[in-house]
Amino acid sequence: MLSAKQTVHFKQVLVTRIAEQESILATAQRETRVAVARYADPADQAAAEYEKQSLVHKAAAARQTVKTLKQALERLRQGSFGECAECGGDIELKRLEAIPWARYCVRCQEAREQG
Ligand SMILES: [Zn+2]
Repeated sequence: MLSAKQTVHFKQVLVTRIAEQESILATAQRETRVAVARYADPADQAAAEYEKQSLVHKAAAARQTVKTLKQALERLRQGSFGECAECGGDIELKRLEAIPWARYCVRCQEAREQG
């Protein structure tokens, strides 16, 4: 169970990360439009396509991260943040500091990765 102070801390961490990722997402979307406009010459189509794909990929990753972070924020509101979704035990604080959107404790995460 998190203390009130820890709850405030993790809320701050999550909100900051969401803002970061949303900014990455907005930038990638803007760069995609710029890239499309820049390569009007058909000779540059391959380069344009490559750049566009890489930006689309970047935007998709940022969008997914925002979703994951918002889910963690929602768990924080509901009081289930820091609780392992598998065994119901506490997720290690060190782990939450490193990965605030973690859903499993170290033991359950390792078990999932192995099998
Ligand atoms: Zn667990």
